[in-house]
Amino acid sequence: MSEDDNKSLFELINEPNHEQIVFCNDNSIGLKAIIGIHNTNLGPAIGGTRMWNYSTDEEALKDVLNLSKAMSYKSSLAGLNAGGGKAVLIGKPNIKNRNYLKRFAQFIKDLNGKYWTAQDVNMSTDDIVCINETCPFVVGLPKENGGLGDSSVPTAYGVYMGMKSASKYLTGSESLEGKKVLIQGVGNVGSKVVDYLIDEGSEIYVSDINSNNLDIAKSRNVNVLDPDDIYNMSYDIISPCALGGTINKESLEKINCKIIAGAANNQLGDDNYVPQKLSEKEILYVPDFLVNAGGIISVYHEQIKDLDSEKVMKMTEGIYDKVNEVLKYSNKNKISTNSAAISLAKDRIAQNYKK
Ligand code: NAD
Repeated sequence: MSEDDNKSLFELINEPNHEQIVFCNDNSIGLKAIIGIHNTNLGPAIGGTRMWNYSTDEEALKDVLNLSKAMSYKSSLAGLNAGGGKAVLIGKPNIKNRNYLKRFAQFIKDLNGKYWTAQDVNMSTDDIVCINETCPFVVGLPKENGGLGDSSVPTAYGVYMGMKSASKYLTGSESLEGKKVLIQGVGNVGSKVVDYLIDEGSEIYVSDINSNNLDIAKSRNVNVLDPDDIYNMSYDIISPCALGGTINKESLEKINCKIIAGAANNQLGDDNYVPQKLSEKEILYVPDFLVNAGGIISVYHEQIKDLDSEKVMKMTEGIYDKVNEVLKYSNKNKISTNSAAISLAKDRIAQNYKK
């Protein structure tokens, strides 16, 4: 039983101080959803909708609370005038059809622009386009539907910028030439990070559980590792680009690298033991929500109707300087890099406190 299990509903939403939680229900079509709006001091809450067959409604609530809070920090740190939100649809993805999506869209529409949705786990581009037929508060749309298209392009660029900045901070050189880099997961983002590293002349290692994605990687002459063997050697950089939670008590017994910088959300298995252990092992962790902000930078530009991809990439390049600021702040204040990033994000939100 976790500490959270004893908390009342308002205790759960009070600590990260969520502004509003919306429970959406329509039992005629089996729709159960929760929209979490963490904070809108900086602007409308933006964050994707994920569908998951949670084992309990409480688990879904905790997920949406964590995810929406992380979106506030991500947008704040990226310098966007956007707040943090997220939505979860509870159930097996196969119950979702057009009726279901349109009903959900109506719930978002009722919020009148306080929350903007996008694509997340188990939601396809078609699903998002369908929601957009009923509700205008949708971002992450394909170019032909008035959006900026594939957000993994800026996300990969931000991860690459984060790697270079961390390398500069640690070694005095931003060059990744000859650096041994592991990319864990070569899907949309990971494969594009590989492209940047090929251009830099890095020594690249990849792992994936999807054979199609691995075949594409193999054709580019990178070293392919079995996922069970990835921690059998040392690296300059490990880049988690698959799932969250991969930096945990167990993996940290084996991980041997200088820098961790990757796209996956919520990489740290916990907020106490893991940052402490990273510091003991002198591993420089570049917070995920700092380096993977290219995607939110892209959808934010859709939200403000500024469909300029070059501007998105330019702003994403700013992740280089932001990483440097966070690393210096962490060193100066003798706190973990994760705490430093959260602290700077919270400061900006607090400065914009709505009176
Ligand atoms: P994706 O689904 O295209 O790629 C993920 C890849 O990881 C897949 O190829 C999958 O097979 C692989 N994978 C899954 N489990 C693995 C394991 N145990 N070991 C090795 N590989 C494994 O997803 P994506 O769009 O590339 O996103 C990657 C991560 O970055 C996700 O965590 C996502 O939430 C996060 N992220 C993505 C964006 C974006 O713009 N796409 C933005 C911010 C954060």
